[in-house]
Amino acid sequence: MYDVVIIGSGPAGLSASIYAKRAGLKAVTLEQNPMSGGQVLNTYEVDNYPGLPGIGGFDLGVKFREHADNLACEFKEASALAVKKEEPEGFTVVTTQEEIKARTVLAAMGATHAKLNIPGEEEFAGMGVSYCATCDGAFFKGKVTAVIGGGDVAVEDAIFLSRGCQKVYLIHRRDELRAAAVLQREVMALTNVEILWDTVAERIEGEEQVQVLCVKNVKTGKKEKILVDGVFVAVGITPASDILKEVAEFDAKGYLLAGEDCALSTPGIFAAGDVRQKKLRQVVTAVADGANAITSILEYLQNRKE
Ligand code: NAP
Repeated sequence: MYDVVIIGSGPAGLSASIYAKRAGLKAVTLEQNPMSGGQVLNTYEVDNYPGLPGIGGFDLGVKFREHADNLACEFKEASALAVKKEEPEGFTVVTTQEEIKARTVLAAMGATHAKLNIPGEEEFAGMGVSYCATCDGAFFKGKVTAVIGGGDVAVEDAIFLSRGCQKVYLIHRRDELRAAAVLQREVMALTNVEILWDTVAERIEGEEQVQVLCVKNVKTGKKEKILVDGVFVAVGITPASDILKEVAEFDAKGYLLAGEDCALSTPGIFAAGDVRQKKLRQVVTAVADGANAITSILEYLQNRKE
């Protein structure tokens, strides 16, 4: 019986592993992918993590994992499929490999890319449609691409792609970007990035590969066909919270309802990082959650003993 099963090995899960080990808890961290680090692995550069300005996202993920490995934190490569509450106490986490029993569960599954749900998106996925500029950008060297979205990820993707692409369209549904001011200034200064304001993507067309993006200006109603070789979708994230549907409470978007102490209303379940309802989703807030969650778990276990 573990004290805690940490589900997920992004910044929140890895921070929790480190804090759990240092607190003397019997903890195991489940990682679904061969590489720890979560979404940050696909970030070209992280410029707002204190003390490590400009570090590559991949390098930051590797550093987090090395820190956990140096402390001999326990990891298992497995996907959690369900969490079942046991009586009189504890939980069973059903994974792709085995069933794991624990007194508490820390949900740190993060989030996945949201989809546009327009015709052609699914059909051309991997054939010009991508959700990861740092993973796939190199295939579009010298070509024309479009990035859809107006948040940090969309703007970072447009900046990243502009370094290799002939031209990048940044397509945003409003007349104001959501991304951080520093990113907005950077993208607006790039001569090979054209921002199409108030514009939505309606359809992706092509033969074997993406060739055309059909867009519409939502203010004028004008429709246009843009010739592109690639479409990068960066319209936000969807929390990976499904496995807790039997035992936890969510908001309307699927984020787990937990405050700064990371405790859910179901005693013994905690949530950290992007899967939790919160205002600011960044690496620094995810690692803070990991630390807070383990502190709450320690308190919870202590209270159960008394
Ligand atoms: P986000 O901040 O939620 O932005 C999503 C963008 O996509 C918004 O501009 C939104 O438009 C647009 N959008 C949503 N649905 C759409 C649709 N159906 N059609 C067209 N556009 C749509 O998501 P994100 O950029 O993926 O970032 C996720 C989280 O990670 C955020 O909290 C972000 O701050 C954080 N992050 C931080 C950093 C950093 O600190 N350097 C880097 C990357 C990510 P509206 O603006 O109109 O809503």
